[in-house]
Amino acid sequence: MTAYERSRILLRFADLIEKHNDDIAALETWDNGKPYEQAAHIEVPMLARLMRYYAGWTDKIHGLIVPADGPHHVQVLHEPIGVVGQIIPWNFPLLMYGWKVGPALACGNTIVLKTAEQTPLSALYVSKLLHEAGLPEGVLNIVSGFGPTAGAALASHMDVDKIAFTGSTDTGKVILELSARSNLKPVTLELGGKSPFIVMDDADIDQAVELAHFALFFNQGQCCCAGSRTFVHERVYDEFVEKSKARALKRVVGDPFRKGVEQGPQIDDEQFKKILRYIKSGVDSGATLVTGGDKLGDKGYYIQPTIFSDVQDGMKIAQEEIFGPVQSIFKFNDLNEVIKRANASQYGLAAGVFTNNLDTANTLTRALRAGTVWVNCFDIFDAAIPFGGYKMSGIGREKGIDSLKNYLQVKAVVTALKNPAWL
Ligand code: NAD
Repeated sequence: MTAYERSRILLRFADLIEKHNDDIAALETWDNGKPYEQAAHIEVPMLARLMRYYAGWTDKIHGLIVPADGPHHVQVLHEPIGVVGQIIPWNFPLLMYGWKVGPALACGNTIVLKTAEQTPLSALYVSKLLHEAGLPEGVLNIVSGFGPTAGAALASHMDVDKIAFTGSTDTGKVILELSARSNLKPVTLELGGKSPFIVMDDADIDQAVELAHFALFFNQGQCCCAGSRTFVHERVYDEFVEKSKARALKRVVGDPFRKGVEQGPQIDDEQFKKILRYIKSGVDSGATLVTGGDKLGDKGYYIQPTIFSDVQDGMKIAQEEIFGPVQSIFKFNDLNEVIKRANASQYGLAAGVFTNNLDTANTLTRALRAGTVWVNCFDIFDAAIPFGGYKMSGIGREKGIDSLKNYLQVKAVVTALKNPAWL
């Protein structure tokens, strides 16, 4: 298929996504429990945006002609990599679908995508729309299966040429091993995080409180890049903790289909119980429980928006990914100290920096070992902005121009010239 035809299919797909916006959002909320308003106003429109972004790339992906020392004509071809295996998680089923399918199709590959067992619906629904938009049979294949069976089969298959995975760091390691033990297919991984959110004493405190709240509690706290270590300068610490508590108490938790609800239930019983165990661990290790700390009501997997202050770096809640509505606030008093502590994590996915001092912002953005640093903002996800992790947060980048490299093979074609090129 020509690049132009691929582009037109992706554009038609984006139009169909917009046409079915509310149905797709409803499926996403049924499956995942996230607020319907979030799915309808952020995630479905973002999926359409992603498809248009990648539609724009299809006919701009081309190789190069490079100069050679000898009498040779050298072409560098960028070819599709072939059959791509993609495994996605349950926290953002539609967006993870878009981050994976968009670049793979733009580059001309075929796909076998495995959805998370908790959230199979929206990918099946939108893939029907993609077919309606003109994608031929067999180009995109959705498998609704379990990880250790369907996922592992994909990662170890000899006829799969590449694997892209988003999920936990432990499973990411399994995927790498499966690739190594089969055909050494290239692997890109988007894994966990424990992202610092740093508030300097010159920051706009009200804005920082609001964004730190958003950075952690958005999507029920189930974000790989959640700002889960809130570092606050000691001069503004008490004020920050008080205001964060007031904001958490105002958080609207309940039926995700109800208007104005900010937080729905957690994804499943396993995550629900795991989060409650982390809360208990925070209390047991001596952190101060500022608000929340328990489940909410007797029906469904609802958890009270929870805040710990006086969190110490060595505590379990400071080091491990909780993946729930539990904010941990740390105190610091010096820029170098906070850089060291923020970087002292096995993860390096994202970071937030809150300051009105340009020099401080520049120092922090360069010193933090993270794939994304947001300055005076958080969770800004444009289709063109690359996303991915340092350290154990992953390998490779998704979105933006960098995502295309994951789905292209590079071939050099060297042709001898009968006469030197300059004759
Ligand atoms: P997971 O890594 O087990 O699941 C993610 C995907 O991998 C799913 O599609 C799953 O079926 C698949 N999978 C699981 N085991 C596999 C295997 N052996 N081979 C191939 N595929 C396999 O994540 P989870 O159990 O759903 O959640 C556990 C933790 O992962 C969470 O608490 C959270 O910390 C983290 N997580 C991170 C992200 C992220 O975006 N980085 C997303 C979801 C979960």
